[in-house]
Amino acid sequence: MNADKRHKIFSRLRAANPHPTTELEYTTPFELLVAVVLSAQSTDKGVNLATRRLFPVANTPEAIYALGEAGLADYIRTLGLYTSKAKHLIAACRMLIELHDSQVPADRAALEALPGVGRKTANVILNTAFGQPTMAVDTHIFRVANRIGLAPGKTVLEVEKKLVKTIPAEFRVDAHHWLILHGRYVCQARKPKCSECIIADLCEYKGKTWPAADEGKRKRGPRTLPQDGGGGKRRAARAQND
Ligand code: SF4
Repeated sequence: MNADKRHKIFSRLRAANPHPTTELEYTTPFELLVAVVLSAQSTDKGVNLATRRLFPVANTPEAIYALGEAGLADYIRTLGLYTSKAKHLIAACRMLIELHDSQVPADRAALEALPGVGRKTANVILNTAFGQPTMAVDTHIFRVANRIGLAPGKTVLEVEKKLVKTIPAEFRVDAHHWLILHGRYVCQARKPKCSECIIADLCEYKGKTWPAADEGKRKRGPRTLPQDGGGGKRRAARAQND
């Protein structure tokens, strides 16, 4: 994919959602750290339900450490892997208290040294809590980057490095959220919603899906975008940002 297309893709995603953020609920870097650790193999909605119970009771390293593994597990037992998540979080709280003055460090090596925190979690914290232009490649970003030709790669790390290198600087801080949201709600795994997609003409995926009604039109000639209000908004956004 060439640089011009890449710039247009992110211009449109920004126009449609100028201030993207995570769907995890948090008010401090520490709450975000807890939520991201809990989100492994769990949905953001499920994590939010658990943290709405937990954070009013305990939202600092000291308070969560004081709950102990069993006490913390009581709040998060609706989530998969909750016993190991409780174990990791208690150990991480202890390290934060002993080594970091109970603050979440804005440093990759220090974050990755915390139990339960890998490269992806560190990238989310650095990006979302500290505004660093990191790229946490999850299943959605990995799929979208490969499918549409944005940053093809066989491994998560390869895709991450390509994205960080090729996304224009002005979009780098928010690109992580735009790509996750695009993958979660539009460019979905089994059936991407190509007919609703604001970057369909820029996407290089060969297997785009169209509603049956559009299929005949496509065979007769070039595809036009839907004539409804949403299409009008999309065209307006494109006109402003291309
Ligand atoms: S056109 Fe389809 S495959 Fe391409 S980005 Fe949009 S939803 Fe995904």
